[in-house]
Amino acid sequence: MIKKGIFWFSTDLRLDDNRALSYAASKMDQLIFVFCPEESIRLTSFQTGRSISNNRQQFLNQSLADLQKNLEALNQHLIICENPTQSLAQMIDNYAVTHVFRSGGQHCLDSSSWQSLKTQYPSLSFNEMGSNRLFDSQELPFDVDQLPSSFSKFRRKTEKIEIQQPQPAVTHLPPAFIAPIQWHSRFYNSTASESDFVGGEAEGNLHVQRYFNSQHPSTYKQTRNGLDGMDYSTKFSPWLSLGCISVRRIIQRLKQYESEIIANDSTYWIYFELLWREYFQWYGDQYGEKMTAFSGIKDHAPITSFYPERFQKWCQGTTPYPIVNACMKQLKATGYMSNRGRQLVASCFVHELSLDWRYGAAYMEQQLIDFDLGSNWGNWQYLAGVGADPRGHRQFDLEKQTHIYDSKQQFIHRWQGQCNNLPLDSIDPSDWPINSEIPA
Ligand code: FAD
Repeated sequence: MIKKGIFWFSTDLRLDDNRALSYAASKMDQLIFVFCPEESIRLTSFQTGRSISNNRQQFLNQSLADLQKNLEALNQHLIICENPTQSLAQMIDNYAVTHVFRSGGQHCLDSSSWQSLKTQYPSLSFNEMGSNRLFDSQELPFDVDQLPSSFSKFRRKTEKIEIQQPQPAVTHLPPAFIAPIQWHSRFYNSTASESDFVGGEAEGNLHVQRYFNSQHPSTYKQTRNGLDGMDYSTKFSPWLSLGCISVRRIIQRLKQYESEIIANDSTYWIYFELLWREYFQWYGDQYGEKMTAFSGIKDHAPITSFYPERFQKWCQGTTPYPIVNACMKQLKATGYMSNRGRQLVASCFVHELSLDWRYGAAYMEQQLIDFDLGSNWGNWQYLAGVGADPRGHRQFDLEKQTHIYDSKQQFIHRWQGQCNNLPLDSIDPSDWPINSEIPA
């Protein structure tokens, strides 16, 4: 019997070090490649609109175009399907498909179509292999459902594990059994953007190469809290989030840098941060639907409310807090924000604005070109006091932070974060207009 496979790309948009892909290519007589953009239930639930931002769409489009180019070089092509459950079921029925493959490590919140296909076709062979994490589940020194309760405990248990070598890119692919299909225009269109990032495997690899060919890794620990520019931190996250680059390939380059140039606190700290990413990947698996629960992984919900006007001002960058405004405008324009900026705007959202943290997380999911379910929702939980933070409360002093990280207010001016001195709310709790010019 002819072995006919579907390879389902998701957040592994590359040919290099893609174990599931290498495996599928070696086992199948015929193979097709699909990508299915899934609508995020989190965006619809938290009312920030159904679609992802233009920046995010553009980065995805560029990544898909690059993948298509790489597949074409191996006489293959990518098929984009809008409705995975329905489209893949049709392909399985119409073409007598025998196998389905994908990279593992997709969080269960985003896995409903995979699960329903497995139920619908119990006799088909469904294959998953991890390719987006540092460790495989069997390498962890604890059961995956016994994830340590804090990052520090996780780090102590995992940081000495020897990381597997990345695999070379596939160079041969079996022939397709479906002819190329015209992509929907949504995946072609690109809009003007101030983003410094271009999606795709080629750009991602070039970026990693440039980074490790520079001096920046040796000073990363001192510079990583910067707010603006391409050099103060690695900027690996956008390509990592779509799997355009492999995290094990990055580790290989880091080790090479350490052996050829220098191994110091800074180079260790790059690994340390990648371990944070790793923690939140397993965290997403462990907590599933709790990732988006108001009380997170704790038993008590935070005391917050929802003020639409405050939410709008936060999104638009017109709050009374210049540093927050500058970060939010940077995010809207570019689809990226520094780690320090993310901490400040999330702290402001939760503490100064007393808003329900899930709306902030959903807004970032919509905007960030490096959106990653575990990292985004896990960090938001952490800052909202309902996640893995052993301290349970973390409020940043925005004035002090501005003084430390933007003492000359260059960042604030560049992104026009200055305030208009209007009060935060224009109406009081009983819906009366607040007019600051009339004495109370
Ligand atoms: P670097 O400082 O150079 O770090 C190197 C790599 O380590 C990053 O690329 C990333 O993969 C990982 N990393 C660093 N810090 C963290 C962290 N705190 N948590 C998880 N991984 C980390 N990161 C995302 O990739 N996607 C998200 O959707 C996301 N949302 C966030 C939301 C909030 C509220 C906060 C506070 C942080 C969020 N982060 C997210 C983590 C972090 O801000 C970004 O990974 C980082 O800013 C990306 O820039 P970089 O690649 O230059 O990071």
